[in-house]
Amino acid sequence: MRVLITGGAGFIGSHLAEALLSQGHGVAIIDDLSTGSIENVQHLKARYPRSGGTVGTGRGGDPSTAGGTPRFDYTIDSVLNVPILAELVDQCDVIYHLAAAVGVRLIVESPVRTIETNVRGTEVVLELAHKKKKKVLLASTSEVYGKATKVPFSEDDDLVLGPTVKGRWAYACSKALDEFLTIAYWKEKRLPVVVVRLFNTVGPRQTGRYGMVLPNFVKQALAGKPITVYGDGRQTRSFSYVGDVVNALVQLASCERAVGQIFNVGNGVEVSIEDLARRVKLASGSDSEIQRLPYDQVYGEGFEDMPRRVPDISKIRAYIEWEPRVQLDDMIRRVIEYYSDRSWSENSD
Ligand code: UDP
Repeated sequence: MRVLITGGAGFIGSHLAEALLSQGHGVAIIDDLSTGSIENVQHLKARYPRSGGTVGTGRGGDPSTAGGTPRFDYTIDSVLNVPILAELVDQCDVIYHLAAAVGVRLIVESPVRTIETNVRGTEVVLELAHKKKKKVLLASTSEVYGKATKVPFSEDDDLVLGPTVKGRWAYACSKALDEFLTIAYWKEKRLPVVVVRLFNTVGPRQTGRYGMVLPNFVKQALAGKPITVYGDGRQTRSFSYVGDVVNALVQLASCERAVGQIFNVGNGVEVSIEDLARRVKLASGSDSEIQRLPYDQVYGEGFEDMPRRVPDISKIRAYIEWEPRVQLDDMIRRVIEYYSDRSWSENSD
């Protein structure tokens, strides 16, 4: 198969590209490097031949393989560049649409960019996919459940969002609209689609730059700086390992019964952020103190966080053979290893 991954140089996209290439599929990615990084796919460029580098290179012949080896092409551009995306869509069999503005910090600081990238990007992808009759897997987010308090969250639960003056909810709302549009393309136009709601996903290559908690804690612990817990630390999240998530995406994209459906992809094990900080400190052998910071100080006046976030994963289990395998302490250990191995500095990440 020939696969197109939008946002393929991002944290999850790069792991997905790697998994698909190792299964023998040809992979093309498009990424504007706004939050992704070419460093995330450097090893794929080196490992797989005839990789493209700029728009229009590396094309011709069978786009999925080069001499029997799966081929990796990359295009550094925005999904809003319609002629470029049209060509990439034309050459693929299936699209994983991961390109989006993500990360709470980015959303709070750049709401216009968040809304435009997420809504228009998905519009363009779906329109082109429909024209060329290509299947789409949309990566959505557990953020769409908003501040609902009934946990675990099931796919057909109500979404509980805050007021439109509070910037954070723009992200949930933009992704909810993406979901509506994707499902509408299935219902109205019979475009085969699958929607996944990703819960907090962690692993190597995730950057802390946009606020994500685990890489932040790990970097702070390794640097001997205070581990910053926002709010009272009693808010919870359920973390899943990127390898488990990628495995779910690949299986769902090839599951006929999954077409037109929405799935939670996550791990049902809940942990408080305070507890996460303690586990990171312990696993890294750090002397860092655990410091509480009020939300207002970090994200500005009136910031709302969600108190709990836990997926119900019974639906995905009913459709594919899938279980999250990597447990929290292993996830923490792998992220610590990643940041210990690389020569990062506070500014480089
Ligand atoms: N958080 C924290 N310290 C940090 C970064 C995040 O305490 O340095 C908290 C954040 O307020 C939230 C949780 O950790 O309650 C998860 O944050 P993240 O931005 O990773 O993902 P979210 O689930 O909020 O989208």
